[in-house]
Amino acid sequence: MTQFSFDLGATDGRARSGVIHTPRGDIRTPAFMPVGTAATVKAMMPESVAATGADIVLGNTYHLMLRPTAERIDRLGGLHKFMNWHKPILTDSGGFQVMSLAGLRKLTERGVTFKSHIDGSRHDLTPERSMEIQRLLGSDIVMCFDECPALPASEAEVARSMELSMRWAARSRDAFGDRPGHALFGIQQGGVTRDLRAQSAEALTGIGFDGYAVGGLAVGEGQEAMFGVLDYAPDMLPRDKPRYLMGVGKPDDIVGAAARGIDMMDCVLPSRSGRTGQAFTRHGVVNIKNARHQDDPRPLDEACGCPACSNYSRAYLHHVFRAKEMISGMLLTWHNLHYYQDLMAGMRAAIGAGSFDGWQADFHADRAAGDIEPL
Ligand SMILES: [Zn+2]
Repeated sequence: MTQFSFDLGATDGRARSGVIHTPRGDIRTPAFMPVGTAATVKAMMPESVAATGADIVLGNTYHLMLRPTAERIDRLGGLHKFMNWHKPILTDSGGFQVMSLAGLRKLTERGVTFKSHIDGSRHDLTPERSMEIQRLLGSDIVMCFDECPALPASEAEVARSMELSMRWAARSRDAFGDRPGHALFGIQQGGVTRDLRAQSAEALTGIGFDGYAVGGLAVGEGQEAMFGVLDYAPDMLPRDKPRYLMGVGKPDDIVGAAARGIDMMDCVLPSRSGRTGQAFTRHGVVNIKNARHQDDPRPLDEACGCPACSNYSRAYLHHVFRAKEMISGMLLTWHNLHYYQDLMAGMRAAIGAGSFDGWQADFHADRAAGDIEPL
């Protein structure tokens, strides 16, 4: 059986391209992972998600443990079979969403007790329970259970939280055990403080993981502060393991993160925006609800090969959005995910060719040019 492994291919500056091998298939890096929160990438069939070029999707432990429950998914054959996605799946630990979604939380050394945002029922989430849930789901890449402090937080609070997360990382490692073909990733914390990031990286590498995430970013600190941390944090992590930036982001965030040595990213933005009438293109964001599109027979982006751009006009996309037809969210989500995967493929090719600086200059120039002129 194929084991979990990472081949670092080319590097160009600090940017890296490579391949993560798993028993369920390869993941080409830098990789973008569409978010399949509740066992579906909203508005997309799994085969459509694969057709955009995605090698892996993300599932959310918090949502799935509450509904339909990890035990039910396990009885039905695991998450891959349940949602008909047979490529790799990464699941988060549930920790971040407990903090952002659940009501009435109680945090102790042992873990978190919380009330479901769906029906108010009480639940426990600990490192051990998070590992159990992710095992029941059948996740290929499992994330450590950690705490992400609510911002703004003092440096002392960030330090306390990071130290707790490192103790939880050790408990996650013990509870995960030895599962050939499955990977466990540690999560670096420490906010925007370099010393804390270094302490966290040292603690994690001491425990030993199959990959490492840079956590606690993309939580409202802004791109400049995020890039400030990414200027040093990824290089504190082992060079020969994949590095994952959680919850990022907009296209220029993704390009900037890859330029700083990040290999994997995920974000709800392309799918969520697709349902609110926003399309990401080479020329920036297009709001399809804008009246300027209502008589426009041209595609969203003539250079895009997705079904929305190949077969439909801006006028049609505008119409179905205004008429609240379901196909609106389907087409725009497909386009957005296709655009993101094209972006990743472009970066991988440029890094492989040693031309990533030029590629980035073109990327920014295309965006600065803005959308095509109205008719
Ligand atoms: Zn398109």
